[in-house]
Amino acid sequence: MPNIVVLGAGVSGLTCALLLAKQKGNAVTVVAKHMPGDYDIEYTSPWAGANVLPMNSDKDSRWERRSWPELRRLATEVPEAGLHVQTARVLRRRADVTTTGNLKSAIADPLFQFSPWYREVMDDFREIPAAQLPAGMHSGCEFTSVCINTAVYLPWLVGQCARLGVRFRRASLSHVSEAAVMGAHGAAATARADVVVNASGLLACRLGGVMDAKVVPARGQVVVVRNGAGGVMPTTSGCDDGDDEVVYVMQRALGGGTVIGGTYMKGNWEANPDPNVAVRIMKRAVEIHPELTGGKGVEALDIIRHGVGLRPLREGGVRIEKELIDGTWVVHNYGHAGWGYQGSYGCAERVVELVDEVVGRTKRESKL
Ligand code: FAD
Repeated sequence: MPNIVVLGAGVSGLTCALLLAKQKGNAVTVVAKHMPGDYDIEYTSPWAGANVLPMNSDKDSRWERRSWPELRRLATEVPEAGLHVQTARVLRRRADVTTTGNLKSAIADPLFQFSPWYREVMDDFREIPAAQLPAGMHSGCEFTSVCINTAVYLPWLVGQCARLGVRFRRASLSHVSEAAVMGAHGAAATARADVVVNASGLLACRLGGVMDAKVVPARGQVVVVRNGAGGVMPTTSGCDDGDDEVVYVMQRALGGGTVIGGTYMKGNWEANPDPNVAVRIMKRAVEIHPELTGGKGVEALDIIRHGVGLRPLREGGVRIEKELIDGTWVVHNYGHAGWGYQGSYGCAERVVELVDEVVGRTKRESKL
């Protein structure tokens, strides 16, 4: 029976553990310094909104394309998972479009492309008629998406894993190969793992044996409020408050409040919310989505908390590949920046393929 240790209990590690455990014959153990229930600056997943706004280029769209059907299924068929269906509204500001009608290079983000690849993937995609655009907007689109209440979804993933026999252990490792002796139990307690899945997120830049200098934080500050967003999740191509500030609103399922954001500050490790940034976040959110306070302005926002999470941004993109480190096969899955949830099933599916290669299984059909 292949003995597999997953290092990391964020959305990446837990989704890998779930798909690996669904495959009969795998013994799966999750080892992590932080687990669902913890709120720590080194642990990104609880801080995410999280919703589905496709961010990868068409070339790298596999992760999001493969994840969307499962996230939609969870939102429509599994209410206890903590997802619900919402309408995404993507708006291009006039200030971000050139006179020739192209996106300015600074915001050439795949999400805001004209005629994006995801128009064929996301349900109910439509261009917003000019007459329905908010002031200052050049154009935009809407489509059916989901919002994930991470405070419900992460524990739900733990529960799904536990039901399939996955074991959980708390430990802070200094080297990735330490994980190899943490999987076997009982009589086999001295056996080495056949594979370690490295889902260490941002901390891949500090983990011995990996030390990936291409991984840096992209700091995201948010405000969580009790106000409802009316089923709509607006986001804009930019704002007047600087290149590292962004605008988005999303209401979480099951009473999780509404997350308004935010920032995208590369290389910034600051864990404390900046009060000035918080004021700007709230002003922008109410401006783009006055429904938040019923037209009563920013003072009518009812704040639950301020928060900061660090997205695991990797220069060159996500790392999903296998590597032999000190005699241990490691399958890496880290560096998902701001799309770790919306790409989680696609990435985990690739991890399962790579694990199969290592343990010598033949290619099989995906079992999401
Ligand atoms: P993490 O959640 O950080 O988990 C890493 C795990 O590895 C932890 O359990 C940690 O303890 C463990 N670990 C690391 N090193 C060690 C070690 N040495 N020993 C033991 N354990 C270790 N994504 C979306 O898809 N949609 C969104 O709308 C969205 N919005 C976001 C908004 C904000 C403000 C932020 C901050 C992020 C957002 N994201 C969103 C991105 C998403 O949150 C991340 O891509 C995702 O959470 C990364 O998950 P992960 O499992 O790779 O890393």
